[in-house]
Amino acid sequence: MQMESLVALCKRRGFLFQSSEIYGGLNGFWDYGPLGVLLKRNVKETWWNDNVLNHNELIQPNNAPSTYEMTGLDCTIIMHPQVWKCSGHYDLFHDFMVDCRESKKRYRYDHVLGRYVTGKKHGSEGAPSEIVKVFVTTMETENTQSALDEAALKFFGIRKKDIEVLQWEGDITSISKLTSFENVLGPDAKHIGTLTEPREFNLMFKTTIGALGGEDDYSFLRPETAQGIFVNFKNVCDSTRVRVPFGIAQVGKSFRNEITPRNFTFRSREFEQMEIEFFCHPAQSAQWYQYWRDKRFAWYTQMGLSGEKLRLREHDADELSHYSCGTADIEYAFPFLAEGEYGELEGIAHRGDFDLRSHMEGKLVKDGNALIVEKLPNGQPKHRGSGKDLSYYDDLAKERFIPHVIEPSAGADRATLAFLCEAYNVDNAPDENGKPQERVFLKFHPRLAPVKAAVFPLVKKDSMPEIAQEIYGELKREPLTASAVYDDKGAVGRRYRRQDEIGTPYCITVDGQTLQDGTVTLRDRDTLEQVRIKKDNLIAELDGRLKQ
Ligand code: ATP
Repeated sequence: MQMESLVALCKRRGFLFQSSEIYGGLNGFWDYGPLGVLLKRNVKETWWNDNVLNHNELIQPNNAPSTYEMTGLDCTIIMHPQVWKCSGHYDLFHDFMVDCRESKKRYRYDHVLGRYVTGKKHGSEGAPSEIVKVFVTTMETENTQSALDEAALKFFGIRKKDIEVLQWEGDITSISKLTSFENVLGPDAKHIGTLTEPREFNLMFKTTIGALGGEDDYSFLRPETAQGIFVNFKNVCDSTRVRVPFGIAQVGKSFRNEITPRNFTFRSREFEQMEIEFFCHPAQSAQWYQYWRDKRFAWYTQMGLSGEKLRLREHDADELSHYSCGTADIEYAFPFLAEGEYGELEGIAHRGDFDLRSHMEGKLVKDGNALIVEKLPNGQPKHRGSGKDLSYYDDLAKERFIPHVIEPSAGADRATLAFLCEAYNVDNAPDENGKPQERVFLKFHPRLAPVKAAVFPLVKKDSMPEIAQEIYGELKREPLTASAVYDDKGAVGRRYRRQDEIGTPYCITVDGQTLQDGTVTLRDRDTLEQVRIKKDNLIAELDGRLKQ
């Protein structure tokens, strides 16, 4: 599938628009259109239903160490600035970036890729030509070498057919591996050596609280929803009857001032997360980690992401955060990535007691195998914790401990994008005259499809519109099919195509036979099969089919 076709469809049919488009757009920000909002809401609701509401705390699921409880929270986006100091985001949540003095552009350091190439550079204004060795660069793309070829041709001023005269050396590497940028040609530069040294760039958006706006009145837009859960751990324990093991789920906006937002909504500056913090006894945490990793992977496959494009990747030991004894990413082979590359949909991390302890004691750092409070040279804690006791007392086992945390952290926008990419299908289906014609259809899982059913009168006469409108009214009253649409414009074949293109699983047509025997046709988006159903049985039939 060509990514451009999907992006065009998303705009044309109202799934996604660039934010503030009439003012030229704002990089890294996206608006969900009328269909997009339905789709993303279905993704979030399905996630919430499958992890929180439909979870039965009386039943021990397969592979779970015990039964468990699930509950939810909805915390603020702006929190006490100390939260981010203790969580480590304030000190650590940065990327390195380089600026180009010539193009005035800014790049994420580890995303600028390049390779050494030697060639003859023609001197300008009659100056003699000279042999130059330069590290040409480009931003990570689908075909990095061809982007480098282009950059080198431009730099040396030679034509494509003469490309053989260029001598390439070494593998493609990031500029973060170089010791000097002296011979580097920036991705958008004409001259060598215009990149600055890398600088740290905090990914949190800073904001001011209140009217005065002094240095003490600032905070940040949250870069993850998780911290709201940790700082409310005690409130939830005290106000409900939950017992460890239990999980708290939250869905909400997060903000990261990403240096190079790209790949449609994959890397945005404002996005939504679906996170669970699962609190358990330290002795069982390794088993709970396995449980959540497998449960979350299975969810994506149930929702239709296919085998070879979806993978579960365990992090190597050197990739793990210092407090973690296991992290796995669920990844998807997005079509905008190069062959063999995958992009993260969700991370499942074993976080030990790092988070609760940080909010009790202050920002932690590693000391050998232990975590200790980071100190300033004067011996004071670098970032002081809340001082509140966030331990848990198990009154049955008569044991007090700081629970370990397993964190399945997913992105709602990335999941929505993966479902869109996976759903995009093209086939040759017969049109109303039986002639095969190219058909674009979105093969969403019925639970995710933005519109579940469309109702058509075959023609606008013989009381067909009245019957169709009655059916439409009934569907609108049912929560499952409340997003149903009514369409009486144009040939029925074209109406089917319009629904296929937005992924509507079922179309219902009222025709001449309806007037005689009260049946309507029910057409399946994927098989194109049409069956006749009594219109009085329609709701029950759709209910069965959509709840598969
Ligand atoms: P990446 O390495 O891609 O930047 P991350 O490892 O920093 O991601 P986490 O901090 O683990 O991401 O966040 C959890 C989830 O939130 C990610 O798996 C992803 O689905 C989502 N997410 C994170 N950053 C973004 C973003 N800039 N745009 C959209 N979704 C995001």
